[in-house]
Amino acid sequence: MYAHISWFANTLLALKLMLPHRLLLRFLLVFGVLYALVAAVSIALIMRWERDRLAADFRQSLREIAAAAVPADWPPRDEAAAADLQASVTRLAAPLRARLTILDQSGAVIADSDGDPSHVPNQSRQSELLAAARQGEGIATRDGQPGDELVWFATKFNAAVRPGYVRASRTWAPQRQSLGSLRNRLLALAAAGALVLIAATCVLVVPLTRAAGALAASARAMTRGDFSRSAPSESVGEVADLARSFEQARLELAAQVERLRANSDRLTSVLGAMSEGVVAIDPRRRILFANGAARALLEFATSEVIGRPLLEAVRHREIHETVEQAFAAEEPCFREIEGQGTTRRVIAMHARRLPGAPSPGVLLVAHDVTELRRLEKLRQEFVANVSHELKTPLTVIKAFAETLLDGAIDDREHNRAFVLQISEQAERLHQLILDLLSVARIESGNERFDLQPLPLEPIVRSCLQRYAPTAEAKRVALTAGASLAGLQIYADEEAVREILDNLVDNAIKYTPDGGQVEIRCQAEAALVRIEVADTGIGIHSDHQGRIFERFYRVDKARSRELGGTGLGLSIVKHLVSALGGTVAVVSQPGGGSTFVVRLPRV
Ligand code: ADP
Repeated sequence: MYAHISWFANTLLALKLMLPHRLLLRFLLVFGVLYALVAAVSIALIMRWERDRLAADFRQSLREIAAAAVPADWPPRDEAAAADLQASVTRLAAPLRARLTILDQSGAVIADSDGDPSHVPNQSRQSELLAAARQGEGIATRDGQPGDELVWFATKFNAAVRPGYVRASRTWAPQRQSLGSLRNRLLALAAAGALVLIAATCVLVVPLTRAAGALAASARAMTRGDFSRSAPSESVGEVADLARSFEQARLELAAQVERLRANSDRLTSVLGAMSEGVVAIDPRRRILFANGAARALLEFATSEVIGRPLLEAVRHREIHETVEQAFAAEEPCFREIEGQGTTRRVIAMHARRLPGAPSPGVLLVAHDVTELRRLEKLRQEFVANVSHELKTPLTVIKAFAETLLDGAIDDREHNRAFVLQISEQAERLHQLILDLLSVARIESGNERFDLQPLPLEPIVRSCLQRYAPTAEAKRVALTAGASLAGLQIYADEEAVREILDNLVDNAIKYTPDGGQVEIRCQAEAALVRIEVADTGIGIHSDHQGRIFERFYRVDKARSRELGGTGLGLSIVKHLVSALGGTVAVVSQPGGGSTFVVRLPRV
C-alpha cells in the first residue's frame, strides 16, 4: 500500500516537474501512445505468425510420426501380432518423445506407447478421432500437466478395408517456451526502443521548450514594461529565427517605448512648467491629466486626482458647467469664474472638446487673470479720475470765458478777476498734466534713472531754498536736521529732488500757520533714512494705507483748494521703489505727520 502511495506521489511530482515543459510532455504522450500502439500490434502480429508457424511445423511433425507408426499388418491377426505392434509403437515413440496410440475403428486402444493398452478406455469420443473419422485427420489440444498442454493428432489408415487410427501426441511446452522467450525478447526490444524514443524526443524538444520558455519570460517581462531581458541566442533552426526576430522586436519596442517615455516626460515637464492650468477630462468625466498649475488654480479637493471623477476633485459648479458645455458644443467655451479660496482669484477658463469620433474628452485650460482684471479696473478708475480732474478746471475756464464773451470783458470792475480765475484753473490743469506725465513716465518703466553716489546735503539745501518763500508766506518754519554732512546716497538726483519736493510741498500745504516742517536725515546700516516731519493736521490711520494711491485724497475739497492733484504721493512711491527704497508714514490726526523714505546708501 505504502509503495503504491509513494509511486503515485512520485508520478505526480514528476508531472509537476514536467509542467514547465508542457510541450515535452505532449510530445512524449503523443509519441509514447503511438509507439506503444505500433509496438503492441507488431509484437502481437509477430507472436501470432510465430505461433502459427510453430503449430504448422508441430502438426507436420505429428503427421510424420503418425505416418511412420501406421502398422503394416492390420488388424493384428493374433495376440503375438498385437504384442509386436505394442513393442514397435513403444520403440518408435521413445526417441521421438511422443506418445503413439493405435486404435481400431471403434476407438478401442490396440497399442499404446505409454503402457498397457487394455488400461486405456475407449477413445471414440475424443475430438481428434471424431475429426479423423470424418476427414481422415484430426487434431486437438488438452490434457497437459498444470501449465502445459498436449497436442493430439489422429489419422485414419487402411480406410478401404478395415479402418484404424494412429494417434500421435506431444507436449506443446517447448514451443510455448520458445514463444515466451520470443515475446520477452520483443518486449525488451520495444522497451529499448521506447528509451531511445524518449531520449531522442528530449534531445529535440527540450531545447525548443527552453527557448520557448525564455521567449515567453522575455515577453512577460515586456508586458510589465521591462525590456532588459534578451531573447535566448543558443537556439537553432526556425526557433533561432524566431528568437532573432523577437530580439529585434524587443530592441525596437524598447527604443520606441524610450522615445515615447522621453516625449511624455518632455510634455509633462512643459505642461508642468506652464503657468496655465491644463486638465484633460475623459468622456466619463474622469481626470486624465492635470498639471501643477491646474491643481493650484482649480483648488482640487484631493491631492491625487488622476483617474478620479471631476466632480470629486473640483467643487466649483461653474467649472462643471463649462466642461459640460464643452462636451455638448463644437466650439470652445470661455468663462471667467471667481475662485473660492481666500484670495478670490479671477480665473479665465477655456474648454474645448478634443477632436475625434467619439471625442476622447475635453481639454480645460485655466489661467489666473486676477492681476489683469485688477489692472483693467485701475485703468478704468484712472481714466474716470483723470476725466473728473480735468473736467472741473475746464468747466470753470469755459464758464468764465463764456461770461467774458457775453460782455463781461467790458466790465472793467470784474473782467480782471475772471481772467485771473481762468489763469488759475489753467495753471491747475498744467500742474495736473505735468503730474500725469510724471506718473505715466515712471509707471511705464521706461524712465531711465542715472544712479550714482550723491551727497545728500546739497539736495536738501536746494529743496529748502525752493520752498522757503512758500513756507514763509504760510509762516511755517522750514528747517533741516543737523546730521546732514557726509551722508551719501546711491540714487538719481532728479528723482530724489522730486521726492523731497512732493513731501515738503505736502508738509507745508497741510500744516497750518505757525507750524514747523523739518527734514531729518540719518544713516541706517545699508540705507539712509530721510524724514519729512510736520506739525500739521495729520492723517487718520484709516487713510494712511491709501494715500499713496493715485488721486486718493483725505479731504478732496481742501486738497483742490490747496492746488493738490492727488498724484504727489503716488509719484513719490513709484520713484522711491524705482530707486530701490521704501516709503512709509507715521501720523496722527492733529499730531502732525512724518514721511519716512529709505534709500540705498553709498
Ligand atoms: P495732493 O496733491 O492732494 O496733496 P498727494 O498724493 O500728495 O495729493 O497726497 C494725498 C493725500 O494725502 C492728500 O490729499 C492729503 O489728504 C494727504 N497728505 C499728504 N501729505 C500730508 C501731510 N503732510 N499731512 C497731512 N495729510 C497729508
